[in-house]
Order: sequence, then structure tokens, then C-alpha cells
Amino acid sequence: MLDSKFSFNQFAKNKILELYHSNRIPHGILLNGNEGSGHFQIGLFLASLLLCSNNSNISHESCPCCKKVMDFNHPDLHFSFPIHLSKTEHSEISDDRLMSFLQMVKKYKCIGKSSWYSIMGNENKQGIIGVKESQSILKKLSLKSFEGGPKVLIMWLAEMMNTQASNKLLKLIEEPPSKTYFIFVTDQKSKLLPTIISRLQCIDIPNAHKDEVVNFLVQEFEIDEISARNYASISNSNLNKAICYHFNSSEASSYLPMFIKWMRLCYSRNIADNIDWVSESSKIGREKVKEFLLYTIEMFRNCLIDHFQLDFITISNDERNFLKKFKPFINHNNIIQLTDLINEAYFHLERNANTKVLLLDVSIKVYKLLRVEPYYPN
Ligand SMILES: [Zn+2]
Repeated sequence: MLDSKFSFNQFAKNKILELYHSNRIPHGILLNGNEGSGHFQIGLFLASLLLCSNNSNISHESCPCCKKVMDFNHPDLHFSFPIHLSKTEHSEISDDRLMSFLQMVKKYKCIGKSSWYSIMGNENKQGIIGVKESQSILKKLSLKSFEGGPKVLIMWLAEMMNTQASNKLLKLIEEPPSKTYFIFVTDQKSKLLPTIISRLQCIDIPNAHKDEVVNFLVQEFEIDEISARNYASISNSNLNKAICYHFNSSEASSYLPMFIKWMRLCYSRNIADNIDWVSESSKIGREKVKEFLLYTIEMFRNCLIDHFQLDFITISNDERNFLKKFKPFINHNNIIQLTDLINEAYFHLERNANTKVLLLDVSIKVYKLLRVEPYYPN
């Protein structure tokens, strides 16, 4: 079983171990918790218990069936999850998106709805577990198990099943083929059909403790402890969110050199070099320029937060070093105009303004705004 890999939620794990050792693991189980509570990992933990044929007490790290579960290639472990339905893009059942799903699980370790939707291409579009997926599950689970042992299906975000899909699965959940287990993982179990809930044994997964989140980030993502504490605080111990903050900040930091150069050119009012900077920067493409503008606003905001010596800023050391020298130039005298200016630029870029013209125009306005009286708090 995968015990060492996932170090938190001992409470839920003990409950599951108790059921397991007394041979009372139900065929349908519902793990309900908030996003980032680690309920999906608990599902994997349970799956590895069920699929492990190693009865001795030797390390499960070296046991072949557990390794297959850990590598997500156990033939009797199936995954079902919401997808953006599209016939033209060949995205009709979970298996059509399985590769990206597993990539996400490996990358994020603790997964969340919006990370998944944005990987599929649209953060704001709801995913669905539709009736075709139910058909596919019925088909898969009616086959004999590949390894002769149990078959396990983990359905992540089961509340995204539509009514038709739910109804199609009812009978299977009620009378599952022998040695077949359903593990439903939900963020909001109240959205599941009552007829489904009544057929499952529910285990509530509590939120992770802040220290558990910090340890996980330090161990699994090699994040330094100060940043890990920041991420754990601002994410309210939602492990998935904390991990997203970590990824976003390391991706966003790549805009730092561009930002530093821009601010220096604006401050020195070096028009010729600024024109070169504008031509270079527009080459990264409209979407990236938009991201860069958001990054710029974030950096301006960080200057202000730093004036108040608030310590929840999640920035890298390089950013911190630059902001130390730069922050006096962003203060209560210009922050509103600067933020409005960049927001407006973002708005125009979304409506297909010419990137070069726009960046040059913004630069000239930033020239003026940066020349306010610097502010040095005590
Ligand atoms: Zn094992």
C-alpha cells in the first residue's frame, strides 16, 4: 500500500485501514472533502490497499502491484473524471483525456477542478461526466480483471455526473460484479443524486492542517520553508491551491527580467532603447504580453504591500531584491493611476489593439508616473 508517499490525513487512513483489516471495505465508498483536502490521494491509498496482493509485511514500495498503482498503470485501476465534451475534438469519455489527466496528477500530486479545466483549455467551462462515460464504465467493469484480483474505479468529482449518467450507473453500484469497487471522490457530495449517495458508504475527509501542507510542499516540491508557509497561509490550507501558487509564481518569475528592464528604461526615459524593448517584447505574443501586464500589476501591488511590511507576499528572492530598490517609486501618489493604466492596456489588448503601439504608449505614460516623489517608509 502507498503509505509513505502521502503523509497526511492519518485520521481518514486509519478509518480505511480499520475497515480493510476487518474485511468490511464496502463496494461503493464516497470520500467527500473540500478541494485540496487530499481526498483523491486517500482514494489512491484505498485503491492500492485493494489491489495489493502482497500479504506479507515487507515494504510495499518494492511490491509490483503497489508500484503499478503509484505509476498509474495498473490495468485493473480505472479513472473517471469530468471532461469538456466535444465530439470534434474526440473528447467524449474520460479515457479520451486520460493522458493529460495523469500528467496533471503526477505534476500537481493534489489536484483541483480549475487546474484541470485550464489544462483542458478553458478554466471557466464546466466539465461533465456524461452518459457515454457511464457506458464506458459499464463495459470496462463487465470484463474480467486483468490480474485476476479486484477491479477498482476511482471517480474524481463524481458530482459532475449528469442525471442521465448517474441513472445509468445506479444498478451497477447497487449490484456490482464480484470484487469490483467504486471509489467516488467529491468536493460537494450534496450535488450527487440522493439515490447514488444512499448506495455508498461516506467518509468525510477533513481539511489538511497547515503544518501538513507545509511539510508536503517542502518534501514533494522542494520549496523552501518560508515560501511553503506563505503558500499554506494564503491558500487556507487548500493543498491544491498552495501547489498552484507555487507553479504560478515560478512561471511568473520568468517575466522578472523583462519587467526590470522596462522599469529602468521608463525611469531613465530612454526612448530609443524603449522602442527596441517594445519590439522585442511584442514578439512573445499577445497572450504572453497580457500575462506580463498582469505580472506588472502584481509587482506594483507587491511594492505597496511591502511598504506596510506585510509578510504574505509570495515572491522569489530575485523579485524581493529588485523590489527592495524599486518600491520607493511606487507609492500612494501613483499606484492608482499605474494600476488603471495597465488594466486599461490589458483591456485594449483583449480587444485586439496593436501590441507595439500599445506598449509604447503605456511606456510613455509610465515615464511620467514613475517620477513622483519616492516614498521611504521608516
Ligand atoms: Zn503492495
